[in-house]
Amino acid sequence: MRETIEMSGNTRNIDLICPVCNTKQSIQLPVDLIANNIKGVSTIAINAQCGHSFHIFVDKNFAVRGYQRSDFDIQLDTAGTVEREPIQDLSLSAVVRMFGEDAFVHAMHSMLLGQKCVLYGSDQQILKSLFINFIEIFEREIGDSADALEIMSKDEYESINPVMYSNDLVIDLDFSVVKVDPFNDKLKLERDLLKECLDVKDVEAQKNLFKEKIAKIFLYANVILNFINMGTTNFKDIKKAMKQTNKNIPQKDLQLSYEIAQHRYKKYLK
Ligand SMILES: [Zn+2]
Repeated sequence: MRETIEMSGNTRNIDLICPVCNTKQSIQLPVDLIANNIKGVSTIAINAQCGHSFHIFVDKNFAVRGYQRSDFDIQLDTAGTVEREPIQDLSLSAVVRMFGEDAFVHAMHSMLLGQKCVLYGSDQQILKSLFINFIEIFEREIGDSADALEIMSKDEYESINPVMYSNDLVIDLDFSVVKVDPFNDKLKLERDLLKECLDVKDVEAQKNLFKEKIAKIFLYANVILNFINMGTTNFKDIKKAMKQTNKNIPQKDLQLSYEIAQHRYKKYLK
């Protein structure tokens, strides 16, 4: 049951970062209600100072465990008619925060390679929100990658024989940790790419840059596959040929593209 919270008695300040525009702000929460919520994680609707509204999930230790945008914002104007605002996406940094940076970079690697990635957690709303927002980043190139991502509840995951997922990436979203890592790789290229995008201040530009970079890397991966299909399988030769047509291709992007092509189209490579 919903109730309007009276701000009397003990309150505690928590800091929030708006998942839409990244503005920092703090709110006061009543200690009793949060600490005594038998569900463990409280869902709270926030009308933030920046003008955005969203839900937050707060655990008993007052840690913000996740954010969620509503699927729709419906507002009544003074005449009583309904205005519907377009759905806004979570910012890139909000998605990264919800995953934890290391877990995000691993999930990103999974998506790029088209290798299965299992996300599990206790809160269905967080899972759903993350799934939608994460998939959306890769939307343009998604192809077979959509099947790479699988979400399940913690109970579901724990009831499955771990051997079933021993070759897949498994991420525990409750603690933002990678539980099973099939890559054995520091994922430096992905970390650098992400960092470059997160360094962009403007929220929209940040996400657009990320999407653009992902799109380019997939494009290069396809070009590399063409070379492979035509019989050039050596990376040095491919790189040379590609640099002849476009000498501005960053070395790191090429390398990541080659890794993707190699993994996705392994069977073509000798
Ligand atoms: Zn905002």
